[in-house]
Amino acid sequence: MASNVERAKQILARRRDAAEREAMRRQEELEDLCPELRVLDRKLAQAGLRAVKLAVAGDTQGIEDLKNENLADQERRRELLESLGSSEEALEVHYNCPICNDTGVVDSHYCDCLKNLVKNLQSGDLNTQAPADQSSFANFDLEFYRNITDPETGVDAYERMTQIYYYCTAYAEDFSRESPSLILYGNTGLGKTHLSLAIANAVIEKGFHVVYGSAHNLLSQIEKEHFGRLNSDDSPEAEILNADLLILDDLGAEFSTSFTVSMVYNIINTRNLTGLPTIISTNLWYDELADKYGNRVYSRIIGNYTPLEFAGRDVRQLKN
Ligand SMILES: [Zn+2]
Repeated sequence: MASNVERAKQILARRRDAAEREAMRRQEELEDLCPELRVLDRKLAQAGLRAVKLAVAGDTQGIEDLKNENLADQERRRELLESLGSSEEALEVHYNCPICNDTGVVDSHYCDCLKNLVKNLQSGDLNTQAPADQSSFANFDLEFYRNITDPETGVDAYERMTQIYYYCTAYAEDFSRESPSLILYGNTGLGKTHLSLAIANAVIEKGFHVVYGSAHNLLSQIEKEHFGRLNSDDSPEAEILNADLLILDDLGAEFSTSFTVSMVYNIINTRNLTGLPTIISTNLWYDELADKYGNRVYSRIIGNYTPLEFAGRDVRQLKN
């Protein structure tokens, strides 16, 4: 099996490839609209080779002429792009990581985006529930909510879930370490896990370090470690506290002990203090959260988390 560094490099190579193809596609689109642009692009692409030939032939006047021609062509290209509502910048390759252009290397050191990817891959055991690509925004089906009135709240499920869906896509797209924390709540089977996985996958794609796991799994990993080795920077607990994004799925389903309750407080409180975003999904209502974890946890969630209340009827029942 390839090492995590190798796998991370492969992922970066795919990103680089996709970014370059996308830039190519944008250019071709404009060239289809404007054939003169296509002619210019080809000519400019061949200028280097022409320069070499002239240099070999010792034709200094030819090189000078070519240089002037080239400058004129570039100027004309800028005019054409502007008339098409575009620009040279718009046609540049938009790499996922502008620091290393998705090569994973800056100044002969590994770039942070590569290190984060490796961390994501290493924490594979923290991400056991997140088989990449399976839950995406693209395969979230809003039709499942059509013509459904939420039996408990009377809310139009389609309308509510459409709002939530677009909120989550924008959240993932604009994600940064300053993004708000979210709490996704509502009955089981309404798509909370699907949307939080979709956010996780999209944010991982952007090169952030994401820890995703059910509360049950994450808390039991911390518990195992507490009674095993000493804390270190790469301990599960440190990773959970320091990840760019932590997704705590199905909070409340874990077996509750005084240890898990104090650990949930520690996680939520520490990440609030450091300002790092957390996404909690839970079937519990606010009063049940207060009952289970106490007022300290409750008040921190109320005060800092953007609530998304899911609506509908159990998606899994409808699918079957
Ligand atoms: Zn990078």
